Amino acid sequence: MGFSTKAIHAGIEPDPTTGSLMTPIHLTSTYAQEDLGRNKGYEYSRVSNPTRTVLEKNIAALENGKEGLAFGSGMAAETAIFQLLKSGDHCVVSQNVYGGTYRLAKLVLADFGLQFDFIDTTDLAAVKSALKPNTRMVFIETPTNPTMEITDLRAVARLAQSRKIISVVDNTFATPYLQNPLDFGIDIVLHSATKYLNGHSDMLGGLVVLNDAKLTERLRFIQKSTGGILSPFEAWMCLRGIKTLAVRMARHDSNATEVAAFLNTQRKVKKVNYPGLVGHPQHRLAKKQMRGFGGMISFDLGSLDKAKKFLKSVRLCALAESLGGVESLISHPATMTHASVPPEERLRIGVTDGLVRISVGIEDLEDIIDDLKQALSKI
Ligand SMILES: *Cc1c(COP(=O)(O)O)cnc(C)c1O
Repeated sequence: MGFSTKAIHAGIEPDPTTGSLMTPIHLTSTYAQEDLGRNKGYEYSRVSNPTRTVLEKNIAALENGKEGLAFGSGMAAETAIFQLLKSGDHCVVSQNVYGGTYRLAKLVLADFGLQFDFIDTTDLAAVKSALKPNTRMVFIETPTNPTMEITDLRAVARLAQSRKIISVVDNTFATPYLQNPLDFGIDIVLHSATKYLNGHSDMLGGLVVLNDAKLTERLRFIQKSTGGILSPFEAWMCLRGIKTLAVRMARHDSNATEVAAFLNTQRKVKKVNYPGLVGHPQHRLAKKQMRGFGGMISFDLGSLDKAKKFLKSVRLCALAESLGGVESLISHPATMTHASVPPEERLRIGVTDGLVRISVGIEDLEDIIDDLKQALSKI
């Protein structure tokens, strides 16, 4: 089955009791049991819910994995994944991960005895030398937020397998339409479904897909014990969004390709980070492991003052955190998504004060470029 067909049909059956073509929203906390120890597979909605189950099957199919789990947000999913570790365990994390991942690791989980090192995972030798006897997990984001660096999925998966370390990939930016980390031997793939999967900026959710039965069993146990589940309504919203993932991503990708090319010709733009540009340091690797380059671009305007002026001048692009919706959004990583990363750490990972990030939407390309043009003319 092709990707678009799977997005629309995988895991989705007409409701057996009514024929309802669309998945019903099962707003129930509990389920009538037929007899002691006999039920229809559902007991309590923190453990499982039929609407959530459909979404979990659907995302598992899209990521070419066996099992899917749906959480209340991307961060709830990440929290559960890190809870696979125990106090005293060490985890290697890509150095420019999503700001919230950094905050969760450094400012919450470190207090529970988990150790984290933020490493340039585009450099396999650096990953290797960061491994310690107590390293139990490598957590990769590729492309990274916001500098769009690419990590070699196969190389990291091999390294992790050889040391019996759990490998995790945050696949939010690429989506399963462009990249399937499990195909390269990665153990766990994670999404903030809030972004491209839902695609309409109107819900929050987190999705996880795995193949390994033991890891799945443990993660389900953590999910039901800690309770960070996705609600039936949000599961339904996400299912609805995923049906158009393929057409949306194709358009995000083609619009972003053109926007990146445009920005690259502008004198006022010092640097453009987009893996689809031949000048991108990992362009060839991106071509090898992705089926396109996605809708996210960051670019440097040289100073905070210029970035501020630019952001104040855009009209079509909304100034907002988040990404992956049909509308173009623009943001300033240093003061928005990466505000909790200390300034010297921000500079080390390339999040300069002049850096602007754009989530290219699926509006008409000319309108997006016209907006960027007029905003650039103001600085
Ligand atoms: C948004 C985001 C998250 C967190 O997801 P929420 O749904 O906001 O909790 C994690 N990783 C990446 C790459 C993101 O963009």
